Amino acid sequence: MTLKPFIFNPFGVNGFILGNDSGEAILIDPSASNAREEAALSDYLEKNGLSVKRLLNTHLHLDHVLGNAFIAGKYGVSPEAHKEDAFLLDLQEEQSQMFGLPMRAASPALGNYLAEGDTVEIPGIKLQVIHVAGHSPGGLAFYCEAPGDVNGQKAPPLLFAGDILFAGSRGRSDLFGGDEDALVSGIKSKLLTLPGETIVFPGHGPTTTIADERRWY
Ligand SMILES: [Zn+2]
Ligand SMILES: [Zn+2]
Repeated sequence: MTLKPFIFNPFGVNGFILGNDSGEAILIDPSASNAREEAALSDYLEKNGLSVKRLLNTHLHLDHVLGNAFIAGKYGVSPEAHKEDAFLLDLQEEQSQMFGLPMRAASPALGNYLAEGDTVEIPGIKLQVIHVAGHSPGGLAFYCEAPGDVNGQKAPPLLFAGDILFAGSRGRSDLFGGDEDALVSGIKSKLLTLPGETIVFPGHGPTTTIADERRWY
C-alpha cells in the first residue's frame, strides 16, 4: 500500500491517504480547510490515479472534519465515524465559534456508523476499528495489523490514533462528553496491548510507537 500524510488547517491535523495497487483509496481525517489544502488532496489523488472509496473520521471534533464537505461533494462518498460522536456534527457552528476555527462548509451527515470490532477493507488494506471513549465519546483508532509493504518498504503494524494518543501525551478530556478515566483505561486495555513495534500516527504531532508510549502508563 501507499501512505501519504498531510498536515492541514490551523490546528495542524494529521490526515492520511491510504492507497492500494488497484487505484483505490481510504482517507482518514482529510481535514483540508482552504482551497490550497483541498487542491493538495485532489492533486495527489489524481496524480496517483486513486479513487476515493471510504472517508473515515477518527472523531468528529471540528478540526478533523473540515475536509468532509469537499471530499464528499467531489468524490461521492459519505463520512464514517462512531455513532456516539454524531451529535458533534450538530455542533459544528458552536465548535467553530468556540475554537475560533473558520468553516468553509459543514460536514454532511454520516453515511455509516463504525463500531468496535468492525473492519474497513479494500483489496490489500484492512483496518480494524478500535473504540476508545474519553477524548470524545465516539473516538476511534484504526489499526492495520499487516500493512505489508508501505511506500515500497516492509512495514510494522500501523495505528491511526486520532486524538486518543499522542507522542508523549494523550487527548484532552474536558470537551463535549470527555472522560479522563475512560480515556486512560481504553488506552491501556486496547492500544498499549498492541505490538510494541506498532507505529502510531496521532491526530496531531509526530509519530511514535506503542513501546514508546507504554512507559508513561
Ligand atoms: Zn479532538
Ligand atoms: Zn484534533
